[in-house]
Amino acid sequence: MRRLLLVHTGGTLGMSGRRPHALKPGAFLRTLRARVPELTTLAKLEFELFSNVDSCEMQPELWTKLATLLHGRLDDVDGAVVTHGTDTLSDTASALSFMLANLDKPVVLTGAQRPLGEVRSDARLNLIDAVTSALHGPREVTVCFDSHLFRGNRVRKVSVAEYDAFDSPNHPGLGVLGVEARFGPGLSRRGRRALLPGLVPEVFLLRVFPGLDPQLPLALLPRLKGLVVEAYGAGNFPVSKALGRSLEPVFAECQRRGVPVVVVSQAPRNGVDLSLYESGALARAYGAIDGGDMTMSAAVVKLMHGLAHHPGHRLRRYLERAVAGERS
Ligand code: ASP
Repeated sequence: MRRLLLVHTGGTLGMSGRRPHALKPGAFLRTLRARVPELTTLAKLEFELFSNVDSCEMQPELWTKLATLLHGRLDDVDGAVVTHGTDTLSDTASALSFMLANLDKPVVLTGAQRPLGEVRSDARLNLIDAVTSALHGPREVTVCFDSHLFRGNRVRKVSVAEYDAFDSPNHPGLGVLGVEARFGPGLSRRGRRALLPGLVPEVFLLRVFPGLDPQLPLALLPRLKGLVVEAYGAGNFPVSKALGRSLEPVFAECQRRGVPVVVVSQAPRNGVDLSLYESGALARAYGAIDGGDMTMSAAVVKLMHGLAHHPGHRLRRYLERAVAGERS
């Protein structure tokens, strides 16, 4: 029988009926066996309790620990399932996709909108589908939720209460688990699996909105090593001097300080094109990096990862190409 590692990190899936109380590890395992007994007929599961927290507590240091744990254990199993809260699942999936390069076994993240022990919980099917995906799906970091398998660094959470909690706006997905479970091909590997731990967390996400006072981001810059600007549409932001809210000084100051800026779009579908409009061209002139169609999670985490592994002039190249299928 094939072996899978099941790493529990927490989230609603592992909470008791009385949220927000997390089930104690023993109670979690008992509930798992009682509610999803089929799991043991699909694979021999090796359980690892990583943490038991709401995913709002996830942090870059924990991603490094999780990636290290997975890398260390993957040689002994055929794949891994990671149970995780939905709130920051897209961030953890992105981080793992960059830290576990050339993955040769599936690593599938899943979670649930209702706790495992509750009637009408989505945890049961999500777990069975995640295990199925870890046994038969593509060898990369994926997210399995509501009968769909997505590339991990392409998802975003779109619903707080419905079971289709995730979508993948710029990637068609890697599988559908309907009556039949069907999977597409995954990433092609360019070498042996490697652990690339380490992230520089001193980055900031600046969402542009009408009324944004440029003095606020300017005041933050001395503390930053990188900035992601979530701009309008194709990569736009105000540049008119008329009302004192041009963001040009922010881009100029970033360039002066050597703080890399990645521009992504607030529009979930398609991506930025900095050659289309005046402000995009200006951003480029100040050395801003085109974030393409990366999700906000992928852009922020990749910038943290790039700053740790490809500092200096190599950073742009790292961010502007797809390293784990995170951009088209
Ligand atoms: N707050 C929870 C978490 O992210 C939500 C969930 O798991 O669905 O841990």
